[in-house]
Amino acid sequence: MPARILDGKALADTMQAETAAGVAELVARGGPKPGLATVLVGEDPASHVYVRNKRRACERVGMTSVHHELPATTSQAELLALINRLNADPSVHGILVQLPLPPQIDERAVIQSVSPLKDVDAFHPETVGLLAAGHPRFRPCTPHGIQQLLVRNNVPIAGAHVVIVGRSNIVGKPLALMLMQKGPGGDATVTIAHSRSRDLGALTRQADIVVAAVGRPILITADMVRPGAAVVDVGMNRLPDGRLVGDVDYAAVAQIAGAITPVPGGVGPMTITMLLHNTFHAACPAR
Ligand code: NDP
Repeated sequence: MPARILDGKALADTMQAETAAGVAELVARGGPKPGLATVLVGEDPASHVYVRNKRRACERVGMTSVHHELPATTSQAELLALINRLNADPSVHGILVQLPLPPQIDERAVIQSVSPLKDVDAFHPETVGLLAAGHPRFRPCTPHGIQQLLVRNNVPIAGAHVVIVGRSNIVGKPLALMLMQKGPGGDATVTIAHSRSRDLGALTRQADIVVAAVGRPILITADMVRPGAAVVDVGMNRLPDGRLVGDVDYAAVAQIAGAITPVPGGVGPMTITMLLHNTFHAACPAR
């Protein structure tokens, strides 16, 4: 039987409507209108598309979005000065500096300059530390989106063996922390695989849930997936013919998996949704 589709687009619509309702209620109670500041340095076309989509989503749910576009020649000191101004601006609740940055700017210094209270991308070491300690303030957007896709589609996580392929700071590593955490949405047994792992298929075949976060088309083939397993495809790969595909051989794996996320329309829309969620929570006075 073909796999159940874990529809990220549909869940994103539902969760964005929930955030919009939360924003409307916050404002009706006299609270602040949540505001996201986006910062884009340089001309990378993909980054421009990502930031535009994030800003549009913000406006759709009733948040303010303020955009700062800086030339590729911007110095680190200039960027840090802007971030300092945004840190001090009470109308800005979340700050998103789109990565990658030009080579003259140290990414780590920039990530560390964002106020942890406005760190809606959840990259600051304080945010990461709180997550690792089991007391998250903000959860990183892509892993949180994946967790929500599983939870809200009733894919059992507690006690499941999750094999995550990819150990980046953005996806694999924080997702492992979240799924192994004690409590709802967690309690999984997690294995992380990477480019140095031996016999990837032997690992993924043991999984109740396979997460592919690598950036290589057709890395996960049908023989690497146990029949009935859930498969989450984070990869976004642009083929020479212009098509966007994930890391999973979708047509074949969908024939044997129990559930699968499509690309596009799976994890991608959830990432933006969780950014809105974080910005909303950053604006809630209780925090
Ligand atoms: P990185 O390049 O930072 O990490 C890739 C990981 O894959 C690394 O840990 C690497 O191992 C591992 N890897 C590479 N080759 C292999 C292999 N042959 N077998 C097993 N592991 C391998 O990528 P990101 O985590 O940033 O992104 C991964 C993918 O997810 C990309 O396609 C990206 O575009 C997509 N993405 C999608 C998002 C969305 O919203 N849908 C959001 C973020 C990313 P090693 O550490 O040893 O090098």
